[in-house]
Order: sequence, then C-alpha cells, then structure tokens
Amino acid sequence: MTGLDQSRRMVVVGASAAGLSAADGLREAGFEGSITVLGSELHHPYDRPTLSKGLLLAQGEPELLELRSAERMEESRIDLILGRRAVGLDVDRKYVVTDHGDALPWDAVVLASGGRARPLTTDGGEVLPVLRTPDDLRALRQGAARHGEVTVVGAGLIGLEIAAGLSAHGVAVTVLHDTALPVDRIVGPELGQVFFELHSQHGVRLRMLSAVVSVGGVEGDYELRLVDGTIHRTPYVVVGIGVEPDVDWLEGSGVALSGGVLTDAAGRTNVPGVWAAGDVARSAHPMFGDPVRVEHWTHAVEKGRHVGLNAARGTAEPFAGVPYFWSDQFGRRFQSFGRRRDGDTMFVAEGSLDAEEFLVLFGADGEFHAAFASGQSRSLRGYRKLLARGARWDEAIDLARPANPDLADSVAR
Ligand SMILES: Cc1cc2nc3c(=O)[nH]c(=O)nc-3n(C[C@H](O)[C@H](O)[C@H](O)COP(=O)(O)OP(=O)(O)OC[C@H]3O[C@@H](n4cnc5c(N)ncnc54)[C@H](O)[C@@H]3O)c2cc1C
Repeated sequence: MTGLDQSRRMVVVGASAAGLSAADGLREAGFEGSITVLGSELHHPYDRPTLSKGLLLAQGEPELLELRSAERMEESRIDLILGRRAVGLDVDRKYVVTDHGDALPWDAVVLASGGRARPLTTDGGEVLPVLRTPDDLRALRQGAARHGEVTVVGAGLIGLEIAAGLSAHGVAVTVLHDTALPVDRIVGPELGQVFFELHSQHGVRLRMLSAVVSVGGVEGDYELRLVDGTIHRTPYVVVGIGVEPDVDWLEGSGVALSGGVLTDAAGRTNVPGVWAAGDVARSAHPMFGDPVRVEHWTHAVEKGRHVGLNAARGTAEPFAGVPYFWSDQFGRRFQSFGRRRDGDTMFVAEGSLDAEEFLVLFGADGEFHAAFASGQSRSLRGYRKLLARGARWDEAIDLARPANPDLADSVAR
C-alpha cells in the first residue's frame, strides 16, 4: 500500500480532539502536503472536558484551555478554517461542501465531526440547555446564577459533573434520572450506589426512576412531567441524556452510517480515502465483538493520531488502544480502563467502596473487561496493560493479590 502523495490535499472535518490529532498524525508520519482542518465552531479549538470541571467551578470568568496554540498550528502548516460547517461530502468528485457554499478538494479526508448532545424539547418547541460548548457553559452559569436552582436531567458522567460543579457554587441541584441509580449503565449498580451517596452527602437531590416524559412552561417556571405521573417544577433545566454522532451532513454521501460512521479497526470507512475517528466513529476494535462508538477524550486523541498515521503511510494498522475515561466530582477523581459489560462480576481489588480510594475489576466467564478506580490508584496502569494484551480474569486477580493478602482462592474465576 502506498501512502499519500506529498503533493496531495488532506481535509479534516472537525477541529477538536480527534481532528487535530489526525492532523498531527499526518505530519508525524512525514506527510508534507496540505492539511485543512474545518471546524463549525467559532472558538479556537479548546479542551472540552474542562467545561464541566474547572471551568464550571471557576469563580470568575472561565478561560478556555486551548488545544493547540496558533503558533503550533502554523509550524505544523495546518490551515484552520473555523465557523464553517461541512454540509456535504462528494465522494466521487472528492469535495467537502461547506455551508458557505465553497467546495474543499481532498485526496483523503478524515471525518471527525464528533457528537452533539441529545436534545430535549419543551411542548412549546424550546430546546432545553445542554453542556457541549463554551456558549452552553456561559448560558448555564448565567442561568444558575439567575435562579439559584437547577434541575439536571440525566445522571450520566456529564450530568453528575454538572451537578457537582453547580452545587459547589451554592446552587440547589435536583438530578432526575431514568434508571435506579446514577451512571449505572457505565459503572454498574454497586458503583452507581457510590455516586448516589457521594452526591446525596453534598446536598444534591437525586430522584431516580424519574424519566422525564414531557416538559411544559418556560424559563423561570418549567413543569417536568415524570414517568410516575408526578410533576417536577423548576426554574431552570440542563439536559445530559447522551450524545449523538454528528452524521446528518453525511446522509446520502455513500459513506456507511449505522450508529455513527462505520469503520474498520484501522479507521477506514467503506469509501477509499475516507477515514473517521473520535466520537463520530463506530469502529471495529480487537477488544470488542461488535463495532463500538467510544465517547471519551483520550480515545479521540489516540485514535485521531492513529488514523492520521495510517492515512499518511497508506497502512491499515488496527487501533487497539484500551478505552479510558476520567471524571472529577466533589474533589474526587474517578478513572476507568476498558469497558464494563452488563452481567459482569465486580471484584474490589483495593480499598473499599465506602472509602475515598478504591479499585475494582469487572469481568465475566473468565474474561477481564475493565478496571475502575477512585483516587490516585497507582496500580490502574498495570490493569491497563493486562487489558491491552487481552489478559484473562485470573491474571487480573493475581495482580490484585499482593494488595489483598486475605484474598480467598474462591474469588470467582
Ligand atoms: C462537558 C463535557 C465533559 C466531558 N468530560 C470528559 C471527561 O472527563 N473524560 C472523557 O474521557 N471525555 C469527556 N468528554 C467527552 C469528550 O469531550 C469527547 O469524547 C471528545 O470531545 C470527542 O472528540 P471529537 O474530536 O471526536 O469530537 P468533538 O469534541 O465533539 O468535536 C467535533 C467538532 O467538530 C465540529 N463539527 C461537527 N460537525 C461538523 C461539520 N459538519 N463541519 C465542521 N465541523 C463540524 C464540532 O463543532 C466540534 O467542534 C466530555 C464531553 C463534554 C461535552
């Protein structure tokens, strides 16, 4: 396979973690041709995870953390076009068409348009606030200050970070969630209970099994109708009910879409020269049976770079990075490698769930699936290595043994 000809043109759609890392990967592999990165936001590329952490907590005006300085972009000879949205991809004539009516020619293209927050709309047609961009952050901070009371719909990681950040500002927070415990889809019921208690202890009111069926009213007096028939009144709402891949602009382009842009493990779509990475991509992965869409920052960075390297070199190296995420809530850091699956056994490898620091493992049928830590667990990286080489549950338990002198041999294997 040959790489990209040095006189060729590379276009990246999406100027965030995955897109900029793809551009880095291209240069790292020695690609000398032109690289254009197109981003629909007007802001210079910034660090998104800080929106629900340091920037939400900030007392004064929050300052965005930039992803790449303008000098670094210039040194890497990356043409950044901001404030323009790709509205079409012509795979025959090889153009990205923008909402300004221009057509950017490409010899290869990386689709890194990420995700957007799943919307919740009121009966009157108002799309309720979410937190995905700096403008959302400004609106949320102002809304919370105006009313002193906020309802968060959805107790996923972002919903919980918002709840923690707002309550640190003295805002009265209620969280409404559809299942029995917060974040249980990601971390399971035992850890869901840990998050429930953490938030309750800090005064956040959590209403579980309280899916929102519809919303009436306007800012200052919303009426949220819940699945049990009750009505929750609140002056301000922010919604964190998941992320959808930003793929509308690719409909009809010929690129295969199914729950995201479908790619192989190398990041190639069904169309030659068209690659995808980050939150928008649903990709084959050696650790998982079905293609997965990973919505984590580090994954977007690593996969973006990987796709850039492959595209420049003309290789199809599979990406096998272990999914990782972190979350900061009430001064505690939570981190996880791998992916817990429904029905997994959970094993407490270090500490205990009622302490600030602990590490737990997830697995089933002799397979090791994920490790999750609260606090600065130094051993987490050891489990990452095991996950990376597809180690079995026994090996994970063996790694846990020194920290668990009393570990019974009866631990489920
Ligand atoms: C508030 C918040 C907190 C988070 N915290 C964490 C965390 O703690 N840990 C973690 O692992 N992950 C976290 N995440 C998730 C993480 O931010 C994402 O996984 C990551 O940003 C994905 O990067 P991406 O480049 O694939 O997509 P995105 O960051 O979504 O960027 C895609 C970019 O493409 C642009 N775009 C979309 N469509 C088009 C188009 N048609 N034309 C041009 N441009 C387009 C978008 O405007 C956007 O700027 C958080 C996300 C949010 C919103």
